[in-house]
Amino acid sequence: MATTAVSPTDRAHRATKRYIYAWGDGSAEGNGGMKDLLGGKGAGLAEMTIAGLPTPPGFTITTEACNDYFDAGEKLPDGLWDDVLDAMKEVERRSGKGFGDAKNPLLVSVRSGAKFSMPGMMDTVLNLGLNEETLHGLIELTGNERFGWDAYRRFIQMFGRIVMGVDGHRFDEVLEKKKAERGVKQDTELSADDLRALAASFKGIVREDTGRDFPDDPNEQLDLAIKAVFASWFGQRARDYRKFNKIADDLGTAVNVVTMVFGNMGDDSGTGVAFTRDPNTGERVLYGEYLTNAQGEDVVAGIRTAPKIAQMATEMPAVYDEFQRIGQQLESHYKDVQDLEFTIERGKLYMLQTRSAKRTAAAAVKIAVDMVADGTISEEEAVGRIEPAQVDQLLRAQFDPNARQGAERIAKGLNASPGAAVGRAVFDADDAVEWVGRGEKVVLVRIETSPDDFHGMAVAQGILTARGGATSHAAVVARQIGKPCVAGCAELIVDYGAKNARSSESGLTFKEGDWISVDGSTGEVFLGALPTVEARFEDQKELQTILGWADKIRRMGVWTNADKPEEAAQARSYGAQGIGLCRTEHMFREGERLEIVRGAILVAMRATRAKTRLAAGSSLSADESADIATFDAAMAKLEVLQQGDFEGIFKAMDGLPVVIRLIDPPLHEFLPNLEEQLVKVTRAELQGGASEEDKELLATIRSLHEQNPMLGLRGCRLGLMIPDFVKIQTRAILNAQIAVKKAGGNPIAKIMIPLVGHVNELAATRALLEAEAHAVQDKAGGVDVDYKFGTMIEVPRGALTADEIAREADFFSFGTNDLTQMTFGYSRDDAEGGFLLKYVEDKILPVNPFQTLDDAVAGLMKTAVDKGRATKPGLELGICGEHGGDPESIHKCERIGLDYVSCSPFRVPVARLAAAQAALQNAAERDR
Ligand code: PEP
Ligand code: MG
Repeated sequence: MATTAVSPTDRAHRATKRYIYAWGDGSAEGNGGMKDLLGGKGAGLAEMTIAGLPTPPGFTITTEACNDYFDAGEKLPDGLWDDVLDAMKEVERRSGKGFGDAKNPLLVSVRSGAKFSMPGMMDTVLNLGLNEETLHGLIELTGNERFGWDAYRRFIQMFGRIVMGVDGHRFDEVLEKKKAERGVKQDTELSADDLRALAASFKGIVREDTGRDFPDDPNEQLDLAIKAVFASWFGQRARDYRKFNKIADDLGTAVNVVTMVFGNMGDDSGTGVAFTRDPNTGERVLYGEYLTNAQGEDVVAGIRTAPKIAQMATEMPAVYDEFQRIGQQLESHYKDVQDLEFTIERGKLYMLQTRSAKRTAAAAVKIAVDMVADGTISEEEAVGRIEPAQVDQLLRAQFDPNARQGAERIAKGLNASPGAAVGRAVFDADDAVEWVGRGEKVVLVRIETSPDDFHGMAVAQGILTARGGATSHAAVVARQIGKPCVAGCAELIVDYGAKNARSSESGLTFKEGDWISVDGSTGEVFLGALPTVEARFEDQKELQTILGWADKIRRMGVWTNADKPEEAAQARSYGAQGIGLCRTEHMFREGERLEIVRGAILVAMRATRAKTRLAAGSSLSADESADIATFDAAMAKLEVLQQGDFEGIFKAMDGLPVVIRLIDPPLHEFLPNLEEQLVKVTRAELQGGASEEDKELLATIRSLHEQNPMLGLRGCRLGLMIPDFVKIQTRAILNAQIAVKKAGGNPIAKIMIPLVGHVNELAATRALLEAEAHAVQDKAGGVDVDYKFGTMIEVPRGALTADEIAREADFFSFGTNDLTQMTFGYSRDDAEGGFLLKYVEDKILPVNPFQTLDDAVAGLMKTAVDKGRATKPGLELGICGEHGGDPESIHKCERIGLDYVSCSPFRVPVARLAAAQAALQNAAERDR
């Protein structure tokens, strides 16, 4: 297949720019590489035409024209309309028909088509050019009156809704009434007379609704339709979709004006949508649906449930063979699975669209692995093709098989998008948004979905529809956004008015607010909230193959944030190469420990002061001695418990580095809330007296109270004020290492001192802890264990003075949670619940900086990297803030030159892939 256009380099144009690219008769002015300008559909049509595939002639108005249209205040750029008319003349010549010609009419479709596919989110008008006169020509030419009137009523309906803004339900109601009157179920069972009557009623509706007549002039129709397609770029659903998929608003849509071919010209005609491989499983079979005697909208909207494409092999064997051959040709040309739209007009096949197919995560990995195996793509290409979010999906939960056995099955439909969804039933997209806003989990239940439901689908856990097949809107969109979906559940009778649904087979019902469980992998729907089980990574061989390739490509290591041996083991099974953050304070909170910690905190300040006095040679009072005894006893207990924790973690990560961060949070986090304690004591006082213990606790809480605890006594400051906390932690780490080493293990510790802003903080802490570590080793008879001291860079001053700090540190780990908090001056505990999400919604900020690393924060990191390495060239650098598992942030870490990223265990596989993709992208940028 040729890859370049055999086209003139330019065409005459009256507008200041060239806005039009035409195709037909085996040649095209554009080509497949011009998606930015021609949109995916226009580029695909050009490429297919060049390759000699059967496409109907037409032309594309560029995305640039769309942007210029909006820049000019929704006016076509000067000269563009004349260029459109010229291009129409070419289409007339190529098709041998005339636009508006009463004897031999040319009809066109006017289709949207942006750079990225946005299925159903923008508008398309079919059968344009029809009026009473051209209709008669069409009927005469085809000898098919019914077909003519069907095309006309569809045109009025579509144009009326999309271009003239008439409420589509008004047409539907009249159509349904007509079917009921005639006692028929399908649109195809209506007669020519019925359709003529419908066309007249539809025109009446247009007049009533808009106050103007339906336009007869084909040129006026074309002008209005082009503008309507441009306008749909900023329609609510297109905007919602772009926001969800992070597609820029300034790309604009192209408009494709394409000669109509008719799938509704009788039983030797048809239309369909098919994938060159199964987009659910990745299996190598032609997958899709088609309908005879129908137009494309019927298949996509799921209005009639379409038979499987395989049935075409018996109904139209020659066309099927040709279609299969074309599918394979396109797949090997694009080196990817294609999503095809086609129409058969009286036995002749026309290709209307080819694009890379959306696919489920499972299909994506299978296809990538298969295509490497058959030599179509390289391992690097395979790694580049998987979206990090798809890896995430593969690790998502499924329903617990035991619970499924006993569950009440409401109904079974089509397994349209895999995964397990549990939520409360809602029957309307707006309701879904409202319920989710209240913190509920919902499943969106619809008879069928349309693009207007997108906002509800985006927030729902899963989607359930009563109508529509595997290529219906619900199915396509759900797969794409990774939501479980059961579609075409025909036994379900959904009543929007009563907000309930009933299965005609099981007899079971559910209403709004009831919990239901939707299994998109099997197509089953159950009553109640079924428990789920985690997806088993071990069973996903293809994913592991891809990640194995990713490991060969990536430069950065992938470590994990884990505080417990089980988490460490899980992360290791996912491929983690170390622990980048073990937050030890979690170990202070569990079970009996919290009481011990509270006991210690009550006397910590007094005992520490007394110890200082003692060290300075003063003699102590009995109370002071008692405080020290109480404090030391609590600390000793904690030390033993922590040693056990560390032994477990060292064993789970045997031979791999473990970064252990010393105590970080403000002490009040270990104590009861001030207000609650105050209420407790006050109540008790009113009822006869509070206990001494409670009063003492209240006094301690008050004494530790800070206006801004996140900026107060925490991190290394805490260790410097009450050194015993970090001393016992260091002893516990070293003793755990010694014990594990004696048992034959290889424990590697990296002791991390948090929140350093000045080098002296680190120098003082390190000196204190090194002495402690040496003492432990000496006591153990000089057992040599591998430990290092390093710091977190999470205070802006720390980043800015990283050259000084590096003198005292063996490694740095970026704590980007705090670094973001302090760079922006946003409280991380409050901002996300408050103004921050609104900021993102209103585009004051492009993204939530606590999720995706902000460039200014990344800039501070880069400064720290450069300064740190200037002092110590081999300084090890990692990240352990939440950003370490976010693909976009991982790209930034690669660019900054970190050695590893560390993230929660479940994100380790995603990070492995993202790190490889970042390395590939960086290499490609360097080559450029
Ligand atoms: C950080 O600040 O990025 C970090 C990892 O530490 P924590 O979230 O515990 O403050
Ligand atoms: Mg921090």
